[in-house]
Amino acid sequence: MHKGDSIIPLLTANQAVISCDGFSIFQVLLGGGRSVFLPENVPDPDPDPSFNINLYSRIDGLNLIEEWRKEKANRGFTHSYAYDKAGFDKVDPINTEYLLGLFNQEHMQYEVDRNKTKEPSITDMTAKAIRILRKNPKGFFLFVESGRIDHANHNNWAHKAFAEVEAMNQAVLTAKYLTSDQETLIVVTADHSHVLSIAGYASRGNSITGLNKVTIGKPELLLAKDGMPYTTIIYGNGPGRTTTTRANLTDVDTDAPDYRVDAAVPMSYETHAGEDVAIYATGPQSFLYSGTHEQSYIAMVMAYASCVGPYSDRELCAKHQMEPSQTPCNQRDAAYIARSFPLFTTGIALLTTIFMMHFSQNLDDMVKGKWHNLYDGKKFCFHPWATAETTVSTFTVIRSPTL
Ligand SMILES: [Zn+2]
Repeated sequence: MHKGDSIIPLLTANQAVISCDGFSIFQVLLGGGRSVFLPENVPDPDPDPSFNINLYSRIDGLNLIEEWRKEKANRGFTHSYAYDKAGFDKVDPINTEYLLGLFNQEHMQYEVDRNKTKEPSITDMTAKAIRILRKNPKGFFLFVESGRIDHANHNNWAHKAFAEVEAMNQAVLTAKYLTSDQETLIVVTADHSHVLSIAGYASRGNSITGLNKVTIGKPELLLAKDGMPYTTIIYGNGPGRTTTTRANLTDVDTDAPDYRVDAAVPMSYETHAGEDVAIYATGPQSFLYSGTHEQSYIAMVMAYASCVGPYSDRELCAKHQMEPSQTPCNQRDAAYIARSFPLFTTGIALLTTIFMMHFSQNLDDMVKGKWHNLYDGKKFCFHPWATAETTVSTFTVIRSPTL
């Protein structure tokens, strides 16, 4: 079926287009991975010379893009397929019911490397998706993943990871702008962290990816016990460490996007980590995301807020329970969710637990725009202690059905 050593991208592509009952549930599907949608004998419309087509090339003859088009046409849906920014921009969300956009043969580019004439940004894609989906009076579920934050961290590229977080921040703000928090639950969270740490006591205002200094604005570097300077950001493991002892960074531009941050343990690929990750939310039932929870609880609240799955019954529906009652609503809602917790096995849970990525920064801070203008395209100017953890994320936008 394929030439590469991983079957997962091909299976994911299959499921994106053809599900067990003959058609995909996805109305809008945007991202990279074009090579796993096309058979090996069909030339790519915009081939990348550096891409190894033999890694992910279909040998089963299936052209999933054509299959997708045929299926939408047969069912009479207005639909568009785009492989670049120009085609994407032409898609009119008002007159489009289904949209497939595959903007790279492999992964989407990192934001700092993105060719803006070829690939839309995560904000562009989020806005287009919401404009298409919000026409549905039954509501919608949108899942957005900034997947390259993870990849950047695996490579110890902290600068690139932070730039991805900043790009996602803009997408969250856009989602907030295009929806109403009276009827739309937005959840930002992660499925794991990375072994990224922020060393304390950096000078106030120092670049988060820079070398620690005695005083900001002055050249004297803080030195470690080995007499050499060190960066504020350090990874526990990964390819950033290439020598047995620390490299002397005195004359190294640690703010550069391609600078691999030092790691304690030399490894070819940095690992995920084990601490709890944060979850932030706005909109209906968002107050239920507080404290510490098993990951499945995240999807339970989403279902409860949108009155689907085990909560589709009026007695269990969040909207019904929001009507005046003697019981404080937070106690009542938590009790309902706890009671029906084991029953929940819908696709929302699957999507959430599989794809949720690493997160960190407080959504309120993001929404209030605290990160605005803190990245000038070259350096990050926010204070290290303001970032808490600085790994990654995905977010979910769910508009409740009109009951
Ligand atoms: Zn990962």
